[in-house]
Amino acid sequence: MTPAGSAPAVYWCETLLVDGVAVSGVRLTTGADGSILARMDDVPAEPGDIRLGTVLPGLANAHSHAFHRALRGRTHHQGGDFWRWRESMYTVAQTLTPELYLELARAVFAEMLVSGYTAVGEFHYLHHRADGSAYPDAHAMELALATAAREVGIRLVLLDTSYLAGGLGSPLRPEQRAFGDGSAAGWLSRWAALRTVIQADASARPAEPGLVTLGAALHSVRAVPLEAMREILGGLPADVPVHIHLSEQPQENADCLAAYGATPTAVLDGLGALGPRLSVVHATHLADADLARLGAAGVTAVFCPSTEADLGDGIGPARALADAGARIALGSDQNAVVDPFLEMRGLEMGERLASGSRGRFTPAALLHAASVGGYASLGLGGGSLVPGAPADLVEVDADSIRTVGAHPGQLVLAATAADVQRVIVFGRIVADTGRLVGTPAAAIAADGSPAALLRAALHALDTPDAASSADTRGPA
Ligand SMILES: [Zn+2]
Repeated sequence: MTPAGSAPAVYWCETLLVDGVAVSGVRLTTGADGSILARMDDVPAEPGDIRLGTVLPGLANAHSHAFHRALRGRTHHQGGDFWRWRESMYTVAQTLTPELYLELARAVFAEMLVSGYTAVGEFHYLHHRADGSAYPDAHAMELALATAAREVGIRLVLLDTSYLAGGLGSPLRPEQRAFGDGSAAGWLSRWAALRTVIQADASARPAEPGLVTLGAALHSVRAVPLEAMREILGGLPADVPVHIHLSEQPQENADCLAAYGATPTAVLDGLGALGPRLSVVHATHLADADLARLGAAGVTAVFCPSTEADLGDGIGPARALADAGARIALGSDQNAVVDPFLEMRGLEMGERLASGSRGRFTPAALLHAASVGGYASLGLGGGSLVPGAPADLVEVDADSIRTVGAHPGQLVLAATAADVQRVIVFGRIVADTGRLVGTPAAAIAADGSPAALLRAALHALDTPDAASSADTRGPA
């Protein structure tokens, strides 16, 4: 079973935000390939049109680690910092099997979908068993994510991640062995084989050929040695989007300076890695020269404001990066918060708190980052609702307790995920007011409820015979 409504559909939007500007009476004709075939503005609805209210372009979650969702609400008693939180995250990572990963990712992608995310870039490094050995199906964990996305009906760009070292000059720690592939050549070989599998799977699904695609990531300059980064960047096809965590923590910069005599950004520049296909995630602690390099190269900077606040990372220089020429995108990262509106708001509020002034990003610029910026970062194009773009839409209740009275163009600073109504991906309605509809996942979940999926997934993770998740549980 594939998501319902594979026949082309015509949607009529009472109000559509196009490049942040509210346009009335927009008819969108969608094609069987999941793209927009035609758009007419300022026209009446016609019989047979599916009528929508206030509609935004599809929103991309450009940086996610789905399994981190298992830590939500379970680490706040620990205090500490990013590094302390990471220890709890490793405990969850060690309990996951392909079966549990499918169940958890299905639930997390479901939460994303009903919250208004139509596409997700999953930064994925849980490749192997906890002891580092391969599963009988070498791609079992990756295909668990692909299956989860297809069942839910969300676009997935699987950012298969190279993670080869425990730190600069140190091998993987025992709890990191599931992430490794031994060498750059080992990672490249597995990535190429995975690409063949995913492409074959896509051609076997003519109803949704582009729903799942493969990208690539280097975990960070601390987790991939210099020569391995060079080999990987040289071994990847030029059209594949590449992501990397960059300068999330001051310690990463200090370690990199000690090892290479250069900042992480300068190291990447030296490798020729900076350019429009690269997305740098967090970019929190940058020197002025880093800012200039990233901007001049036209990279995408993916900010994850809810995570950066939750982990105490700091407030990154988003406005300065945009002014320097970087594209901005947004991600939910650890999924402690899954709400694209709160990420948009978080980006602007961080800027306001740091600068003492308002309007650092206009509402239109915030929406652009969450839609066009995120789609571009994932190599998907679109987000701007022109013919040929992905037919991904998000209907928002503009008359709720949160949004009533807001100017349509400022809706993104008033709404939350609770205001999301129908969600359209690939030209098909796959969620409606908090429920999954018309997809295999909708049939699995009681009443199409993502919460039911999450409850079951977390219960499976927490069962006593699981490896151990005691460290991730809060006090009774
Ligand atoms: Zn991350």
